[in-house]
Amino acid sequence: MSVINKSDNYFTYNQITEWDICVTCDSSQAKELCRNCGHGVCNEKKCCQIFPHINGTNYAICKSCTRTIEKKLVAIVNHDELRLLKKKIHSKIKKTIKKIESSE
Ligand SMILES: [Zn+2]
Ligand SMILES: [Zn+2]
Repeated sequence: MSVINKSDNYFTYNQITEWDICVTCDSSQAKELCRNCGHGVCNEKKCCQIFPHINGTNYAICKSCTRTIEKKLVAIVNHDELRLLKKKIHSKIKKTIKKIESSE
């Protein structure tokens, strides 16, 4: 597998030939290129997510990249929850300290 410089060469390598096979199902002809990894995907819903993009083009993300991105999103959400939890604990500790101080 070759590494593709996706930001620089996207438009030069974005030429899908009839021999390109979908990276997800490994059987259908590739119709779009995953914008994340650059592999060809067919336009089946089970293989990729396709979003409408500028100039009538499509923005496709293959299934495995979708999973990777979703995992990242979940990690971010959990991180936020953790921060909230820490805040809550922090304010509880503060309150407790105040109580102790005022009772002295
Ligand atoms: Zn496919
Ligand atoms: Zn991909």
